[in-house]
Amino acid sequence: MANKSYEEAIVSLQSLLSEKGELGPVVAERIDEITAELQQSRKTFDPVQRIKCGWLYFKTEIYDKNPELFDKLKKGQEPKFLVFACSDSRVSPTTVLNFQPGEAFMARNIANMVPPYDKLRYSGVGAVIEYAVLHLKVENIVVIGHSACGGIKALMKLPKDGSESTEFIENWVKIGLPAKAKVLAEHPDSTFEEQCKYCEKEAVNVSLANLLTYPFVRDGLVNKTLALKGGYYDFIKGEFQLWGLHFHLSSPCTV
Ligand SMILES: [Zn+2]
Repeated sequence: MANKSYEEAIVSLQSLLSEKGELGPVVAERIDEITAELQQSRKTFDPVQRIKCGWLYFKTEIYDKNPELFDKLKKGQEPKFLVFACSDSRVSPTTVLNFQPGEAFMARNIANMVPPYDKLRYSGVGAVIEYAVLHLKVENIVVIGHSACGGIKALMKLPKDGSESTEFIENWVKIGLPAKAKVLAEHPDSTFEEQCKYCEKEAVNVSLANLLTYPFVRDGLVNKTLALKGGYYDFIKGEFQLWGLHFHLSSPCTV
């Protein structure tokens, strides 16, 4: 009972409540049991407590111990980087690249994709890039892909007939279709897993190319106030690759 998961307990409760007929004493007793299980399983993870502990650690160990940094940040931010990374909980650039508060303006989405310039479909992403480049004057835009990316897997699994079974996900990852096409053309005999891995990196290149469709990004590159970089975090091997884009792609190096 005690190690029954919260989700399993919810399912039990739902199936019990969906049963037809009067709730007899046996059923009522069972509901009491399941309620007790829920309370027990909740004890193992308390989200409010987790947030409180996290904040307390940050406040005492980082905020209070770095008054100079946080006094400076009260006046504004001057990040050098705009970073695109996947929403995946394992790949936070703040953790992986040890970014400090104020260092990196961040955009995270499914499969770390930068869509092409489109005021109607992708205004959220456009606003991030515009603010970072024109107002914060970041000097680098870095797009970081990663190993075992669920979004890239969804892209590689898209049915050929273009049909969709999700509300948003498949439509979003279609931004990476040029990467998928390249991978399938260059590695037709590779396994699905290998093709996904190629695509995780190639989709970064598609995003770098899409960045060139934003006029203020192009201007920044021409004026040499902005550089574009691709990155790949492999959390299986524990490696990070970085490559540049100076109107052509340079070969990647492991850093
Ligand atoms: Zn991902």
